[in-house]
Amino acid sequence: MNPPIFEYFAPTGIDEVIDILAKYPGEAKILAGGQSLIPLLKSRISSIPYLVSLSEVKGLSYVDEGKEGVRIGAMTVDSDLENSELIRKRFPLLHDATGQLADPLVRNVGTIGGNLSHADPANDLPAVMIALDARFAVRGRNGSREINARDFFLDTFTTAMEPEEVLTEVTIPFWGKKSGGAYVKFKKNTWNFSVAAVAVQLELEGNKCTRAHIATTSVSPKSGRMESAENILVGKALTDEVINKAASEVAASAQPTTDPYGTEEYKREILRRITREAIRKALSRAGVN
Ligand SMILES: Cc1cc2nc3c(=O)[nH]c(=O)nc-3n(C[C@H](O)[C@H](O)[C@H](O)COP(=O)(O)OP(=O)(O)OC[C@H]3O[C@@H](n4cnc5c(N)ncnc54)[C@H](O)[C@@H]3O)c2cc1C
Repeated sequence: MNPPIFEYFAPTGIDEVIDILAKYPGEAKILAGGQSLIPLLKSRISSIPYLVSLSEVKGLSYVDEGKEGVRIGAMTVDSDLENSELIRKRFPLLHDATGQLADPLVRNVGTIGGNLSHADPANDLPAVMIALDARFAVRGRNGSREINARDFFLDTFTTAMEPEEVLTEVTIPFWGKKSGGAYVKFKKNTWNFSVAAVAVQLELEGNKCTRAHIATTSVSPKSGRMESAENILVGKALTDEVINKAASEVAASAQPTTDPYGTEEYKREILRRITREAIRKALSRAGVN
């Protein structure tokens, strides 16, 4: 099906993007890679009269290492993250996720900014960014502000951005020396969204876990931290018993629903197993076997 008719803008500067969004409040939307938006328009689930492309805005695609962390431009495509040696070395959790996200065709076009702004709880990058404690720079009429990933996702398809704001950059802070992360995704075919997935990032001192972030994909209306499970890990040596307890807590506190991918019980069991696997992988990457 063809999408409903829309007016297309391709400005060359962010200020111009913001001006157009502000001129048509609630009627204009940004177009990034189009991998979520265009299917919505084509299936006529959405009708948007004004589309503002970011494709001509220079300087929004980069992966840069700074002193405190790595900065990623909003128009950086998933495959650039997947192929970045810096990301693989510094944030294996993000490398895991981008390598399993959709298929290579989607990854070559879909952007990190679009993946996060769309706030689909089945998208992989929200949970990853929450687990990594990332910060998002957004720009609007009143200048720039920063939103922590954990405060960004308000509900399904709803973020803390105002309609005329643009996500411009993601900053992922470095974690301590003895840290590691993993993303484990369970899906029924190679190219698709997950039945359930989990992002785990850990920091340790000696044998003890000092910091743990866990976030899930596809098993709740929005991605968020699983604090009750994190609390089971923090302050302890991560024995099999502690890991199993935390994994069971993630499964119990998630909110999966029965759908064609599986029953609620089935998804909880998947989640328990993949959380256990992700914690073990994160531990091993932190240098604890
Ligand atoms: C077959 C298929 C399989 C897929 N499988 C997966 C999967 O397994 N995992 C996964 O995570 N995703 C998956 N996706 C979704 C894909 O990752 C999308 O690319 C992503 O969700 C949106 O990125 P985009 O750049 O294409 O954004 P667009 O589709 O262009 O935009 C999405 C939304 O974000 C807004 N937006 C975009 N950029 C910005 C910005 N910088 N500031 C503010 N708002 C912005 C747009 O206005 C729109 O509302 C799949 C898509 C397809 C087609």
